[in-house]
Amino acid sequence: QKAELEKLVHVPTITADQHHVELAANIGSPADVAGALANGAEGVGLFRTEFLYMGRDDFPTEEEQYLAYKQVLESMGEKPVVIRTLDIGGDKHLSYLDMPEEMNPFLGYRAIRLCLDRQELFRTQLRALLRASAHGNLKIMFPMIATLEEFLEAKAILEEEKKGLQNSGVAVSERIEVGIMIEIPAAAMMADVFAQEVDFFSIGTNDLIQYTMAADRMNERVAYLYQPYHPAVLRLLRNVIEAGHSQGKWVGMCGEMAGDPVAIPILLGLGLDEFSMSASSILPARKQISQLSRAEMAQHIDAILQMGTSAQVEAYVKETILKED
Ligand code: PEP
Ligand code: MG
Repeated sequence: QKAELEKLVHVPTITADQHHVELAANIGSPADVAGALANGAEGVGLFRTEFLYMGRDDFPTEEEQYLAYKQVLESMGEKPVVIRTLDIGGDKHLSYLDMPEEMNPFLGYRAIRLCLDRQELFRTQLRALLRASAHGNLKIMFPMIATLEEFLEAKAILEEEKKGLQNSGVAVSERIEVGIMIEIPAAAMMADVFAQEVDFFSIGTNDLIQYTMAADRMNERVAYLYQPYHPAVLRLLRNVIEAGHSQGKWVGMCGEMAGDPVAIPILLGLGLDEFSMSASSILPARKQISQLSRAEMAQHIDAILQMGTSAQVEAYVKETILKED
């Protein structure tokens, strides 16, 4: 079993009907890159940069951040690396950053909201990213985007910092893609509009599910409502993937759902281009995908999206596609 998976480490991910999809790794620090490569990652689909800010008593400097980003980009060579800008707030706090007490932190001051408000913090991170871009295949991703204005403002700030660096003679890559996480239902519904502005989408199902179902992802009492296979969630996914593709943009997923063997056939049928997951899930997912036909999975989608419950979807996938009983 293990030896069989080992053989897939350096093999691209190809479906039974010869479509390539990209299997990437979620990482939390430069130290995770070795494990990602050893498990056959074709890229980094999500680098959560919060670790740089946590467990210390002041903000990381531009130089510290630059070195960390550069290290990841260099170790990945030509492979794509999606780095997400700071997603603090919600359940994640910094001792040195004064945060308001909030009734609903997950609906509050976090991620891009905080970054657009505390711009010195955001600009420092963007400069570090731009400088690091010269060392690899960087893609920049903004978290928790709810409105088009937020994306346009974040992108404008990025452009300003880029010009500033270039004017002082610093090398910046000219091919950095800039995308957003789709993890708020409003953005998922408006994906066709966003698709005209962004270079890519990466769907953050961990948050998208909690906001769609109004069920706190940390609250065990409502965990039964946290339903990745709920048709409401799946319809949003279809909307996002179709919207991205209609503008020629690639669509990935970096929430836990991307590595789930029950979800994978559905995601393949929906046309997802990139699946980003914890390193240990990559080889099993590659094996599973190599045995599935994308065209065949697509034929199940209409039936699945017409179902009324998560339980029906799950039973259908298990019995009809995975042939378990
Ligand atoms: C997500 O919300 O799906 C996601 C990948 O981001 P995080 O888990 O860091 O909120
Ligand atoms: Mg999230």
